[in-house]
Amino acid sequence: MANASILVVEDEPAIQELVAFSCGNSGYRVRKADSVGAAESAIRGELPDLVILDWMLPDRAGIDFLRDLRKSERTRSVPVIMLTAKGSEGDRIAGLDGGADDYVVKPFSPRELVSRVRAVFRRRSPEKSGESVVYGPLRIDPQRHEVQIDGREVKMGLAEFKLLVFLAGHPERVFSRSQLLDNVWGDHVFIEERTVDVHVLRLRKALTVANAQNMVQTVRGLGYRLSVKLDS
Ligand code: CA
Repeated sequence: MANASILVVEDEPAIQELVAFSCGNSGYRVRKADSVGAAESAIRGELPDLVILDWMLPDRAGIDFLRDLRKSERTRSVPVIMLTAKGSEGDRIAGLDGGADDYVVKPFSPRELVSRVRAVFRRRSPEKSGESVVYGPLRIDPQRHEVQIDGREVKMGLAEFKLLVFLAGHPERVFSRSQLLDNVWGDHVFIEERTVDVHVLRLRKALTVANAQNMVQTVRGLGYRLSVKLDS
């Protein structure tokens, strides 16, 4: 499965390089921007899974850009970690009120930053943390590409795997076909919604070897969810 992508928005080259190197070293796919303008164009090209955003940027304040991200439908739910020299309580509160998921004050240790990135992923999109996703009898190892149900290995195709990883990261939540397309296939990929149904059928078929096909549930008129609860 493709590694989660991080957009690093920072104008100081040494810090940008340090952040990019640390994240890249931890298995994330990193893109870099040195201004709000460059970040906007990077995001137009591809929606990142997380943004690390400096407060003081040459063209606009990072905090204003953060507010823009939170206003737009497309970028609203992208996790953001603010990175800044401003450590006062007032700035910290402004950052969190502006919709930041976390706040790291310079100078910071790269290991601490990476562990905060992981923590944000674990909280916001567990399937992107790179760690095992566990739900009920289901255990998924995203690195090794393995699915087990009650200890029994289940084989499936790549698209079914990605779909299962996403659903298992948000168990019991219902997702529409278009939400699944955005989150599993990427928001710039144009695929018919019917394709989702095809992969859901294949996923259920793969799960039958462990008699777990009922975990992938159709919610009439809404979409799909993963649940171990069979009623409701
Ligand atoms: Ca700066």
